[in-house]
Amino acid sequence: MLSVNLQELHHVDSHPPGLQGGRQLPFVGGIAVIVSPVGANSAIVDWDDLKAMRAAGWGVLNHSLNHIGRSWGDDAGRLTTAQITEDGFWSQALLAYGMGTGRAPTGYVYANGYLDYNRGGILESLGLRIATRAGAPNPADVTQGDIAWLDFGRNYLDEGTWANEQKGDPMSGFPVLDGDGPLKRLIIDFTHVIEQAASSANNQRWRKRLSTISDQWGAKGRDNLWCAPTSEIADYLRAMRVAKALLGRDQLTISIPYGIPGSRLTARLTGIPASARLTAPPGTVLYRRGDTAWITTPMIGMEGSPAPLPHIRCAYAGPPGTIDLGSHCVVAGVSVHIARDLPDKFSYEVKLRTATGERLLVEKTMKAGWFVGSNLHAIVPNAEPIAATGLTLAPQPGIDKIEVWVVDAGTAKPAGH
Ligand SMILES: [Zn+2]
Repeated sequence: MLSVNLQELHHVDSHPPGLQGGRQLPFVGGIAVIVSPVGANSAIVDWDDLKAMRAAGWGVLNHSLNHIGRSWGDDAGRLTTAQITEDGFWSQALLAYGMGTGRAPTGYVYANGYLDYNRGGILESLGLRIATRAGAPNPADVTQGDIAWLDFGRNYLDEGTWANEQKGDPMSGFPVLDGDGPLKRLIIDFTHVIEQAASSANNQRWRKRLSTISDQWGAKGRDNLWCAPTSEIADYLRAMRVAKALLGRDQLTISIPYGIPGSRLTARLTGIPASARLTAPPGTVLYRRGDTAWITTPMIGMEGSPAPLPHIRCAYAGPPGTIDLGSHCVVAGVSVHIARDLPDKFSYEVKLRTATGERLLVEKTMKAGWFVGSNLHAIVPNAEPIAATGLTLAPQPGIDKIEVWVVDAGTAKPAGH
């Protein structure tokens, strides 16, 4: 996916930056995930890929369930409130489940720049804390004042736009202030593709951009740039503003309020004699120079946001057919995974078996042509989940897998709420 030699680029583990001599870490970024097609075929990331990237320090951001929202054209193409409610809920819920942490991303990348995904503050209610699009404001100082976190500007570096509208300037959108770089700014570069061939103009431009950043403001240069996933930086900035530091006679305690997405934090202490012994909990990074000490804590709180309610779990994943769920399942939605060149009038039905008989969940007809991905037939959050002992989806070529999502017992919202 990223063939520019990112391994050549490094940043240091002191953060926020401004400190020489940190331990070098590999370059990391964030991957904005369109959730519905995850694992659909070998060319698309699956959950194991995403977990491995997260373990390597990459961020996993939400890029909508289906990427169907659009900001251009007529009003007929606008998503309804029910659609965005469903998209937001399921994209967050499936990411929290698929990553195996029960925690949902705090970072969102608007698909097609479509701000309506946050209509009525839906994304915020789902735990998202920064959402970005091309053309939105990019504040000059993210450390203070009011920031419109849910409409935050990013650079759009897809080849056509970069080459034409931005004249192919390798440093387009990267503000340089008297050589110090973009102090107190959060610069987000976004692209769908970095061209693989080293000879391509796009690949060479990326190399120029990233090596300039690395050489001038990375570990070899001024060392004042923190390279990290968008959500990690936004979570840091949020936590930093509300953190409490309690300094006792021989102990420093740093805390952030409950309900804030977790973050590591850095504290700078001055007036600490170089001879004084300092100890810190495991996972802390401690640097000292003269009578100054910098302490970067381990994660304070929990990374990410809580999964939306009701919590879901996968009760069945396997081939279609007559599926038995036992007696205690309350179905939240059903995903039908399809990969084939669909014939004309390709269709299927999903029927639930309930206490009062069989109930048609969906009758779906699809257009002819290639389709690789999944159709999520959602029940929650726009309707009440349905108690069912099983379901039926007749096997047919192209339908490889069905996933049955049920409400995780104990997390259903109480009636009337
Ligand atoms: Zn996109």
